[in-house]
Amino acid sequence: MVLSSKLFLKESNDQKIEGADEFINEFDRMFRFFLHRLWEMYLRGEKIPAKFRADQRPRPQKPTWLLERPVILAIQQASSVIRGVVEKIRDLERQISIVKEQIEKNGPGEEQVPTLSKLENMLEKSKKEPRPPKNKYCFLSSKVGTLEKSNETTFDFWFVLHDFDSRDRGRKIYLPLKSHSHFKKLSRGDARRMGGATLRPASVQINFEFSLKEKETGETVGIDIGENSLFHLSTKDGSLHFEEDKMLREATYKELNAKVHRKETNSKAQKKAMVQRKNYINEQFNRLDLSNIKTVRREAIYNFTSWRYQFIFESLDRCCFKQNVFVEGVRPRHTSQRCSTCGWTCEKSRRGDAFRCVACGARLNADENASRNLANPRLQGLCYGTSDSQAGYAWGPRDGRIVGIGSPPPTESDQYIESIYL
Ligand SMILES: [Zn+2]
Repeated sequence: MVLSSKLFLKESNDQKIEGADEFINEFDRMFRFFLHRLWEMYLRGEKIPAKFRADQRPRPQKPTWLLERPVILAIQQASSVIRGVVEKIRDLERQISIVKEQIEKNGPGEEQVPTLSKLENMLEKSKKEPRPPKNKYCFLSSKVGTLEKSNETTFDFWFVLHDFDSRDRGRKIYLPLKSHSHFKKLSRGDARRMGGATLRPASVQINFEFSLKEKETGETVGIDIGENSLFHLSTKDGSLHFEEDKMLREATYKELNAKVHRKETNSKAQKKAMVQRKNYINEQFNRLDLSNIKTVRREAIYNFTSWRYQFIFESLDRCCFKQNVFVEGVRPRHTSQRCSTCGWTCEKSRRGDAFRCVACGARLNADENASRNLANPRLQGLCYGTSDSQAGYAWGPRDGRIVGIGSPPPTESDQYIESIYL
């Protein structure tokens, strides 16, 4: 796992900042140029390699003054963006073909058609040329930028830019940096400071790599992130269970969310409320004692619908990492409609925050039910299975076959459903 820390360039004098800015702007110009050219390559059906030989590299009309190394880094940065987009497009196309196949086989279900149009919309959006981010950034290897300890000055480090300027090959820019508590904390641990850094107009981001010592024993739990409750974490039978501690602060997660929405968009008050919510999320995860837990299974989301979910997942991942707990991303479907007690899946069982199974009568909190389903290894990989969830159905254990549509068995256990249908 990689954790990073930012050091700020506020100690630098104007001349140094100008030098760094000039570098960043030229790097960014090359990055944008490559991004556009590689996208054209993709549209022509060419494969986008991770690395380019010198003779494969497109050349801009206005030649660059950068030396070869930073140019290589700029094209690699562009290539990784384009390859990410291509991968996403492929993944969406795969999902679409699975849903289409199901529609062909079973006829259009109430759910498949909206799923299909949602996926097709996402695909169409992904197929647009990726725009470079508003905030410039340069992924630099240690061959162009290195962090050096500074012993003789009042600064803690220098970030040294070198081997970048073809107009003056020996040119170096020393950017002074001051350490802070977060950076010191990361440096003190048994992490390895990774070579290179991400340079931005006002900061340098340094990455640290930590290795996880996997536990031999422990429970597998699922975690469900909710709207009204920050999280429910549970084993598949509910024997071990944690949730948001609503008494920890005066306001709960739900109330903090409401506060953020109440404030005017982009106002100071809204920003303040967002910081409060962030602190709350971190605090809730930090208090978790995961000593009996080996694996946390959470929904795998690669395309975050909001930064809030991204933040929640990052906070969760960090907390798991600190306690040597493995995080597994899974993509099961209908975790909120499936009964974790008997396996019957039906949208009528879910009523807002409450879950009441129409087949076996089990009652529990809806998020708690979802977290139990996420913990269940049997549901691994059942991501695209879809059926008439209004009538109800059951999932086969491994292959995700849909069984027993519309006729819930008189059952009290998961095993029983399997023995009836499989
Ligand atoms: Zn049930």
